[in-house]
Amino acid sequence: MALGVVAVSVPVLAHPQPKSAVVYAVKDGETLSGIAKRFRVSLKALIEANGLQRPDALHLGQRLVIPSGGVKAAPRGPARTPVRAPAHFVLDVPDLDGGAPLFRWPLEGAISSPFGRRRNRWHAGIDIQAEMGTPVFAAAGGTVAFSGREKFYGRVVKLEHDDGFMTVYAHNLQNFVETGAAVEAGQVIATVGRTGRASTYHLHFEIRGNGKVFNPIFLLPRREPPEDDQAP
Ligand SMILES: [Zn+2]
Repeated sequence: MALGVVAVSVPVLAHPQPKSAVVYAVKDGETLSGIAKRFRVSLKALIEANGLQRPDALHLGQRLVIPSGGVKAAPRGPARTPVRAPAHFVLDVPDLDGGAPLFRWPLEGAISSPFGRRRNRWHAGIDIQAEMGTPVFAAAGGTVAFSGREKFYGRVVKLEHDDGFMTVYAHNLQNFVETGAAVEAGQVIATVGRTGRASTYHLHFEIRGNGKVFNPIFLLPRREPPEDDQAP
């Protein structure tokens, strides 16, 4: 009498990941929602991708798979030489304890160059593409700290806001405000040009605060569809 051989197939329950998924190591003090925000993925997708039982209990160095769809995915291909960001650059979602003005977009347009590392230097703002003469709006109310010309920025407006914040609008064709004047949020303060170090018509926009420069993307209202994070 022959013994029957029974083949048992055991389904493997894993969390399948696309090959492009990015693995991220949790840093000190980070929260899951902060990481989700940073990578532009939903909290739910992040929890599911990692099969997290206790999303509230992250630990330092914990490896998280960032599901595809996160637009801030690390570059593929050969790793680039790591270069330390200048100390005053805040690359992540800033932890501001609520102490920041509500900013609005200074104009509509595609981001032609994002904040952060460029080939050989660091970009302290974002470049927003627009045609010559497009109005530039104050991102928040405040006072004009400077309106004039500088070598790199060309014709530039710098506005002071609450909580130690400042916004910078550079390469303008015209400035419409004078140093010392009060401006309201949404007021037209300049027009888009290519003065100073600029090869195309665009607005170079910065958000600074208390000695640091922030990625404006994290402080501006979310736009649909996202046009940022494109390679320059
Ligand atoms: Zn720029």
